[in-house]
Amino acid sequence: MRPQREALDREQPHHAYLLAGPRGVGKELLARLFAQAANCEAAAEQRPCGACASCRAVARGVHPDVMWVMPQSEAVGRGLLSRADLEAAPSRDIRVDEVRALSRRLALAAMLGRRKVAVLVPAEALNERAQNTLLKTLEEPPPATTFLLVTEQPDALLATVRSRCARVQLAPLSDRVVTDLLLARGAPLDEARRRAARAEGSVGCALAMDADELERRRELVEAVEAAVAASDERGALDLAESAGDRDAAARVAAAVHAWTRDLLVGQAGMPIEAQELSALAARAASVAPSALLSQATLCAEVIEALEQNGNGRLQMERLLLGMRELRGG
Ligand SMILES: [Zn+2]
Repeated sequence: MRPQREALDREQPHHAYLLAGPRGVGKELLARLFAQAANCEAAAEQRPCGACASCRAVARGVHPDVMWVMPQSEAVGRGLLSRADLEAAPSRDIRVDEVRALSRRLALAAMLGRRKVAVLVPAEALNERAQNTLLKTLEEPPPATTFLLVTEQPDALLATVRSRCARVQLAPLSDRVVTDLLLARGAPLDEARRRAARAEGSVGCALAMDADELERRRELVEAVEAAVAASDERGALDLAESAGDRDAAARVAAAVHAWTRDLLVGQAGMPIEAQELSALAARAASVAPSALLSQATLCAEVIEALEQNGNGRLQMERLLLGMRELRGG
């Protein structure tokens, strides 16, 4: 069997991701990690190493192929731009001129790295003209380029721009969704509501309040990982069949989604929320951030399809076979 890493190394990320979520959830860390992994000089299984010249240049914000675009007001606030250098008050928008300048830079070949990365932060600062100009670039993206649109307000973006991006939702789930998931696990309504309110939108957190529930989540993720890592599809198809009803499928998808988010947050240097899963996390630590981003997107799509009465077995097959593909199976 071909080594897994080789396949991951060949894996092509989407052209554009919408990294959505509230303040403090790790969106910019994730963007930086993606940019580092895409251009790291270390062996594939060590990316991002954080130590090579490329990783350090990304961390310092001086890598020529990794472009951060933000409003002047944001750059001043971060000490990247001096007010004295501006003729007028710093703009709060990302303006059309700035998007055009970005497009011109992206049209050139990568200078040092393999992949150009453009981070727009916050993306909702793009005014309407700027968004329409960006849209043209998103429709015909330059080769080997990834756009990362970082936003706390995805709905403030034009639907046409959103539809061009794979969405990675780092936001907490709503209390209602968490409550439903707890109810599906047999928690009484009062207790489910109480735990959802305290969990701040994290299913992992809600479950972590109960050791039995956490153990069940670990078992689900273990079963999924085993099926995804197997040499053929049989295990994945069997698991899809056995988790075939909609509620069971929703439990599996929610467990994998929460776990994927924990891995992403962990890789971005933040603590993994459920330490009990750290052994599993070590096993999956070699999965490229871009594959994890795609996995998070896939989980969210499966959960949404199940909420809209999607077929449990088919959605499970979609999840498991999709994960296998992302891992190079
Ligand atoms: Zn590196």
